[in-house]
Amino acid sequence: AAGRELLSPSDVQRTVARIAHQIIEKTALDSGDADAPRVVLMGIPTRGTTLANRLAAKIEEFSGVRPALGSLDITLYRDDLRTRPHRPLERTSVPDGGIENALVVLVDDVLFSGRTVRSALDGLRDLGRPRAVQLAVLIDRGHRELPIRADYVGKNVPTSRAEDISVLLTEHDGHDGVYLHQE
Ligand code: 5GP
Ligand code: MG
Repeated sequence: AAGRELLSPSDVQRTVARIAHQIIEKTALDSGDADAPRVVLMGIPTRGTTLANRLAAKIEEFSGVRPALGSLDITLYRDDLRTRPHRPLERTSVPDGGIENALVVLVDDVLFSGRTVRSALDGLRDLGRPRAVQLAVLIDRGHRELPIRADYVGKNVPTSRAEDISVLLTEHDGHDGVYLHQE
């Protein structure tokens, strides 16, 4: 079943644009200040990487500055690696210049327990020492199990644990949209 629509295609596009504006404002990446940090968007595969790509394009469109872009597979850093079914490793890619001293914005589609983000922080540690790390998510569905919060949230969606959110993106699914499913 399609589920209940939470974001229409145009809502998804507007939300990505809004987050791009917020990243520009909060990071001041277009300030031209010599001591403004280099901004690196690191997407968490699969859809977090796609969202990071879209955000980079919007940020460039709105500010004239293109942030560096990478992607971070967190499979090996999960604390439940031994208890969950294995999935294939995704590619980690680090932009030229790395993440040392950069302001890294992690990007994911859905924030739930926070364990993926915790794993991503472990993964970043192996790549360098950022000046700061922020988090952007399209959907925050609650149920945190760790002291982790997002700096940029497309939409807060109170969910029950039995519910599931589908994030559809044109690049993968042929159209944009976010839906809520009852298990
Ligand atoms: P967490 O690690 O915070 O429990 O879950 C976040 C990760 O699992 C994200 O990478 C996200 O893609 C995925 N995830 C968790 N819950 C959902 C959900 O309801 N829908 C979708 N599409 N992904 C989810
Ligand atoms: Mg995911």
